[in-house]
Amino acid sequence: MRSLVPDRLRNRWRDARIERSKMSCSTFMLYLGIDGELPELAHHTILLSQGYRQHLDSIERKHVLPDAPALYVHNPSRIDPTLAPAGMSSLYVLVPVTHRSAQVDWAAESAPFREIVLDRLAAVGVPNLRSRIRAEQMFTPADWEGRLGLYKGATFSLAHSLDQMLSFRPHNRFEDLEGVYLVGGGTHPGSGLPVIYQSAKIASRLLAADFGRGEAWTAPPRRRAWSSMAP
Ligand SMILES: Cc1cc2nc3c(=O)[nH]c(=O)nc-3n(C[C@H](O)[C@H](O)[C@H](O)COP(=O)(O)OP(=O)(O)OC[C@H]3O[C@@H](n4cnc5c(N)ncnc54)[C@H](O)[C@@H]3O)c2cc1C
Repeated sequence: MRSLVPDRLRNRWRDARIERSKMSCSTFMLYLGIDGELPELAHHTILLSQGYRQHLDSIERKHVLPDAPALYVHNPSRIDPTLAPAGMSSLYVLVPVTHRSAQVDWAAESAPFREIVLDRLAAVGVPNLRSRIRAEQMFTPADWEGRLGLYKGATFSLAHSLDQMLSFRPHNRFEDLEGVYLVGGGTHPGSGLPVIYQSAKIASRLLAADFGRGEAWTAPPRRRAWSSMAP
């Protein structure tokens, strides 16, 4: 919104209002190519920290980095060997962290934070990890913002606080500019993939209705009733 529509053309969603809005968290990512298979590591692992409340505070209130972050690890080659070369594994490591904040300088923090995350991975059962890394891509909140244009690096866009949900989000028929339709996690009805599909459906319907094509959206008849699908 801030880069595509000049501020002077927006009455409701001015830059200042966007700046004041509550944004969701961000994520620190490690995508790792590991030498060897990891049968000891489950397909999905969530590691909570002892100080889970402090971790949440670091994300939502203090906007600093946690000492012992909670994290999620995806080990897809466990169920699909084609997702890594033979005898190797690919890992996706997601650490929820604060969105852009004055307290975190990712240029300085990314290397030490990576070390903390690699240490935490030992706790989920990946031994000798450092010496087994053959490929690596690190992605920080600064990358989400700088390389992909995500405002404040907030990977889930506007936070889902009560005052920012549903109709309190930017509408799909953009209130500030006629003929422009909005879709996606930062708009009505909200963030998260299932909801974003609804956003796409609603925006398409509004667009079709405005162009006199509403009838195209009558649902096609079901081929088979659910009851007839019982074994
Ligand atoms: C690491 C991570 C894990 C996640 N996990 C989950 C999860 O488990 N479950 C869940 O529900 N959600 C998850 N999400 C959130 C979810 O991925 C996003 O909310 C969702 O993808 C947002 O969809 P969108 O269509 O709004 O934006 P995007 O999917 O970001 O699509 C926007 C598109 O616009 C393109 N674009 C940007 N600027 C321009 C331009 N100027 N011109 C042309 N094209 C442009 C971009 O390249 C991009 O393809 C996760 C997000 C991240 C980052």
